[in-house]
Amino acid sequence: MDLFEHQAKEIFAEYGVPVPAGKIATTPEEARAIADAFAAAGTSRVVVKAQVKAGGRGKAGGVKVADSPADAEDKARQILGMDIKGHTVHKVLVEEASAIAEEYYFSFLLDRANRTFLSICSVEGGMEIEEVAATKPDAVAQVPVVALTGIDRARAREIAAAGRLPEQALDGAAELIERLWAVFVDEDATLVEVNPLILTQDGRVMALDGKVTLDGNADFRQAEHEALEDKASTDPLEAKAKEKGLNYVKLDGSVGIIGNGAGLVMSTLDVVAYAGEQYGGQKPANFLDIGGGASAEVMANGMEVVLGDSDVKSVFINVFGGITSGDAVANGIVQAVKLLGERGETVDRPIVVRLDGNNAEEGRRILNEAAIPVIEQVETMDEAARRAAELASQGV
Ligand code: GDP
Ligand code: MN
Repeated sequence: MDLFEHQAKEIFAEYGVPVPAGKIATTPEEARAIADAFAAAGTSRVVVKAQVKAGGRGKAGGVKVADSPADAEDKARQILGMDIKGHTVHKVLVEEASAIAEEYYFSFLLDRANRTFLSICSVEGGMEIEEVAATKPDAVAQVPVVALTGIDRARAREIAAAGRLPEQALDGAAELIERLWAVFVDEDATLVEVNPLILTQDGRVMALDGKVTLDGNADFRQAEHEALEDKASTDPLEAKAKEKGLNYVKLDGSVGIIGNGAGLVMSTLDVVAYAGEQYGGQKPANFLDIGGGASAEVMANGMEVVLGDSDVKSVFINVFGGITSGDAVANGIVQAVKLLGERGETVDRPIVVRLDGNNAEEGRRILNEAAIPVIEQVETMDEAARRAAELASQGV
């Protein structure tokens, strides 16, 4: 899960990482009130920053300095509602402006390719690090971090020096980097990025921006992370699927996809997209992996989620029997249709089923015998994908 900048900075503050004081506003009037309070405390310059989960907000006009509370209100009015890389701005962070002397770059991340953690530090901050790495590779230090020994103050200072930060920034940067490592480890993050990390005109080192990605696999031991979820922008069907323990992703096509196992579901997406080309570009409407145990209830939940999407014009159930055998899956589908009927959700769109693998023949026999009008069986994955795309193209 990616966090908003303000959430990242709230976590940074808890760990003693210096960040500018700031508050969230959802209206221009609120922005003005926050700026008023800063002005009363002696700071009249503030920065109004779009809170969207996308980079390059500055370039897009989503970060603006305001000289007075009235100006802050104006700037917030300009930024709220803005579209930045497909994200609508619903809130802004109003912060005390910082007097920047220099901008640097720092991050900790999971380096999957090398099976280690990595720190990246550069004296060239503020712009995209990929760009700096391409144009001035010597100015970007990439220092692997040994998980077992981690980062102490001395190691942090070495990293800052390797990134060519100037002498007067080294102590401040070392302290900040050591604390960011605590954030990274204790919060189970896979990315903690500060761009820019700044040296202020009065010689302090601060995190002016923050990007944090939390590892969802650690949710079981990070109870507080649930509160950081952006419920407002989560698709309601995705929320429902998550609640039922299903792996569901909404896509923008018309063929609902249900399969067992992520690998099979992913290849099903490809096959459907390919087959759909000859039917006016029909594409998968979603990705739903019911996992290993396709019980009737799991199947019913999966079908309910997929059919709950009005973009779905046909459904393709693609199951390869393994630990769960074909007959169990077939019984699951038959009972799922019944269960859905009892829940008042009539299955009103065509469903193409392809069963293969362990005990598939018995499964097919069960489905044939049940003779459910909306269900059609097809033997091969390619032909089933073609049929599902064809049905979707005929749907309304
Ligand atoms: P991003 O463009 O989405 O990465 O947003 P940032 O938070 O990094 O802000 C972009 C740029 O705005 C920074 O690199 C700074 O140059 C500038 N900026 C942000 N906050 C301040 C501030 O308090 N004072 C000044 N002078 N500039 C700021
Ligand atoms: Mn930034």
